[in-house]
Amino acid sequence: MEIYLDANATTPVLDAARAAALSAMAEDFGNPSSIHSTGLKARALIDRVRSRASRLLGAGSGRLLFLSGATEGIQTAVLSALRALRERRAAGDASAELLLYGATEHKAVPEALKHWNELLGLGLRVEAIPVGRDGRHDLAWLKEHAPRAGLVCTMAANNETGVISDLDGIEAALAGSTCFWLVDGVQALGKLPLRLAERRIDYAPFSGHKLYAPKGIGLLYVREGAPFTPLMAGGGQEGALRSGTENMSGIAALGAVLEALEDGKSFRDHATLATFRNRLAAALQQAFPGLVFNAPLEQTLPTTLNFSVPGLASRLLLDLFDAAELRVSGGSACSAAKAQPSYVLQAMGLPESQTASAVRLSFGPAAEEAFINEACERIRVCGDTLRENCLAPSGNQALIGDGITRFLMDGECCWLVADAGSRRCVVIDPQPALADRLAQQLRCQGYPLVAVLQTGSQDEGAQALRAAIPELLAEEGGDAWALGQQTLRRLALGDGRSVFLLDQRVAFIGRASPAELGTAVLPATLLAPACDPDNRVASTPTAALAGAAGPAPSLGPDALHALLREHPDALVIDVREPFEQRLGQAPTLDPAVAIEAMPISRLLNALPAWLAMPAERPIVFFCRSGNRSQIAAQLLVRLGHERAYSLAGGLALWPQREAAADPALYV
Ligand code: PLP
Repeated sequence: MEIYLDANATTPVLDAARAAALSAMAEDFGNPSSIHSTGLKARALIDRVRSRASRLLGAGSGRLLFLSGATEGIQTAVLSALRALRERRAAGDASAELLLYGATEHKAVPEALKHWNELLGLGLRVEAIPVGRDGRHDLAWLKEHAPRAGLVCTMAANNETGVISDLDGIEAALAGSTCFWLVDGVQALGKLPLRLAERRIDYAPFSGHKLYAPKGIGLLYVREGAPFTPLMAGGGQEGALRSGTENMSGIAALGAVLEALEDGKSFRDHATLATFRNRLAAALQQAFPGLVFNAPLEQTLPTTLNFSVPGLASRLLLDLFDAAELRVSGGSACSAAKAQPSYVLQAMGLPESQTASAVRLSFGPAAEEAFINEACERIRVCGDTLRENCLAPSGNQALIGDGITRFLMDGECCWLVADAGSRRCVVIDPQPALADRLAQQLRCQGYPLVAVLQTGSQDEGAQALRAAIPELLAEEGGDAWALGQQTLRRLALGDGRSVFLLDQRVAFIGRASPAELGTAVLPATLLAPACDPDNRVASTPTAALAGAAGPAPSLGPDALHALLREHPDALVIDVREPFEQRLGQAPTLDPAVAIEAMPISRLLNALPAWLAMPAERPIVFFCRSGNRSQIAAQLLVRLGHERAYSLAGGLALWPQREAAADPALYV
């Protein structure tokens, strides 16, 4: 079962909201502008939902418009305020020089400010209000700048950290200023009392999908008397403030959510949510010693936790959680290879160890206790799995290392060759940036490192590795190193370059071309490069690394089952890393075929046996999303085994998954 802990990104739709939306689509489907009875029913529904929203938000005499979501609400508010500022200026009042937004605001706000400022030709200065280490606005700075501000935008609660803004303090800082005030209420809806009309807030946008309504429905609060310019002109709906036929199913669903909020039965109160959050926080601290929370818990939404584990990349943590079917999000934007530091945490002045490795965990106010308990249990298992696989910053368990492991970073490969029998190992082409990761693995393994080798002349990586693990260094000179039954030999190429041959099975060729190797290698020798920007993994003298390789065939679940029925001898290989295999789900195959585990980092060990198989025996790779399995399948095709396939979309798209990995499924 999936444990969804990314509610600040979006939530599932509440059952009652789904039922209300269906009813609005199937039964009360009228157009509220129609004057017949079907239309009147739709109109009555809109009126009911608007009044309920107005009560819940304390909107008083302010208006509430239905629109598509917060981004549209923000545009409308910014356009309205900026047009009013232009009119003020035309009337001779040029006191507004600045458009201010909190430095941790959602991107929709500063981008809208810049966009409309340019489009309306205002030329005002758009400036970020600094925040303190606790994520709250610098009120002294705001007070100083408020007299020259035309519009001030401050969110009620932050989406990444959950930090709750001091709206009373902000209001006090704005005293005496003629600026307009926009409060982004997206993350506060249903979690904080807002009492909009009690403050001088001019505009407040909301998005339904952050609180169990579907995507595509939102609200904009506009204070009575605040200037307004429609973003959409047309049929005159919403009192001509927002044209376009209303999203009735969305409005009905939002109405059901607001009803649940008002009756207090489906949503937990603040104290209960805080207890849940504290339990999750304790589970995290226990699972990941050294963990730091990136915002003070007492000043954050009781449904959000943002943390970092110094020494542990957020990408690894995200993969770990995802494998355990715990859906969390990076507190920072993650690309495939590198995490971008979070601008929110950077604005708070947190060190890089925190900004680049943040993880956000957020749940909705309808969370049940059993759900939180299950989340805590999975967090505990994640911590154990990390230590079992030598991935934690400390407290790791011993690890058996055998065979060849590839470490890939920014397209550069480093190879570790270990022999469990003789407990000896060798590292080829270590890069400086990999020294810590390698050292951690070598420490867990505990084997003497008998050689640190380079195929080229760069030796910073080798020096860094030697410095990191002096206790394991047992370097032997010469040009040959025994590793159990195998021997690794140096072949000098001149210019200070070398190639290392593991018998004639594998050649670590660095940047050399196959032509330079001559008769030192056989046609089937696997060539392991030092530079592999396209992630080709390996080649042979007859199947060059740069050779053409289109995508390997992909199979969906039905096609895979059909293939297995036709070829019960097919090999099915899980290329995920061991920690994912330990935590994650395996596909339920029909017919039940044993699955072999061979992480992508260790493919070289299995290639000779796979390539020796009869050409008609299929081999199917799978992973989490279909990327790694595609790499493996392409490799096999390129090296000559054409019946290699990748499971399309990986396990993420597999229809039925087992509740937990069953070790019996693996051979
Ligand atoms: N403001 C905040 C604080 C948010 O968290 C989001 C969504 O992540 C938005 C605005 C934009 O909302 P939407 O994408 O629903 O328009």
